[in-house]
Amino acid sequence: MTDRKHRNIPIFIPHLGCPNLCVFCNQRSISGCHKFERESVIYEIENALSTIPRDCEVEIAYFGGSFTGIDRELMIYLLDVAKSYVYREDDGRAKVVGIRMSTRPDYISDEIMDILSDYPIKTIELGLQSMSDEVLLLSKRGHTSRDAERACKLICERGIDLVGQMMIGLPGGSLENELETAKKICDMGASGARIYPTVVFYDTELADMAERGEYQPIALDDAIYRSKEVLKIFLEHNVECIRIGLCASDNLFDEEKVMGGANHAALGELVIGELYYDEMCDLLSLYGNASEGKIAKFSVPMGEISKAVGQNKKNKQRLIEKYKLRGLKITEHNAQTITLALE
Ligand code: SF4
Repeated sequence: MTDRKHRNIPIFIPHLGCPNLCVFCNQRSISGCHKFERESVIYEIENALSTIPRDCEVEIAYFGGSFTGIDRELMIYLLDVAKSYVYREDDGRAKVVGIRMSTRPDYISDEIMDILSDYPIKTIELGLQSMSDEVLLLSKRGHTSRDAERACKLICERGIDLVGQMMIGLPGGSLENELETAKKICDMGASGARIYPTVVFYDTELADMAERGEYQPIALDDAIYRSKEVLKIFLEHNVECIRIGLCASDNLFDEEKVMGGANHAALGELVIGELYYDEMCDLLSLYGNASEGKIAKFSVPMGEISKAVGQNKKNKQRLIEKYKLRGLKITEHNAQTITLALE
């Protein structure tokens, strides 16, 4: 164990080498980065390292496209650049401890893993999106759930941390198959997960499908509910959820780029707020009618008060009404649990 904080230096490689056209994908909108220049990578790393506190552990993270599917010479170049930072003498800056990358399940093979074995790869994030073959087909992902299982196995066998990325609200998606996907991600050995409710960008096939009435973009409330239920699965299995919702980039919340779907700047906070609401309900329900007319005093982990209170104090108001409370106070404590005392 280490008490150093983790940071990624994200280098976005949009759409390079990707022959696929997943219905939801418009990489340029997602990454906010229209073209990629290999010469800028060292500059980006240097720039990031100059701002990261020294006590952090850093991974150089090739995100955005399908890293192991890009031009082989470029992939090796980028791996060499990152490797040179990992093995650098202490230079007074934060320590780069490894390489992280995102890729597709069908771009993981024994041959690729053999190449990667020459490099300090710490984490591979796999864009699994769904473990339902029907959803994968309707989304034109170009791989199956079997490909995903095989790729996860190859990654875990090499002792590399696996992060499973999944989407909510794809064509054919349902709460049932999303919960099943989350369970399978846990069973396949992931140590981390990302949940991406679907945002419909213009200039994608998904936008065309929505216009033709063949696909209904997921409503925000539905996305929050389904993401929360999926998050519960990850929490139950001790799989850390490192992100809910796409990163805010200039383009993401630009109405000219986004047609619909789960497009909210604080989606993760909303989901976690709902999770707190459920947990606070569970605790209050233990008291039955005995909580009526009382002040409920919750203690939540440090830094979590605003999430527990909910946006616009939504949770507070709902709980007071539902349990006929006289009042509700939320304070923080030095524990990871939520506790309740009635007064
Ligand atoms: S594989 Fe990735 S980069 Fe390629 S189209 Fe699909 S989502 Fe986009």
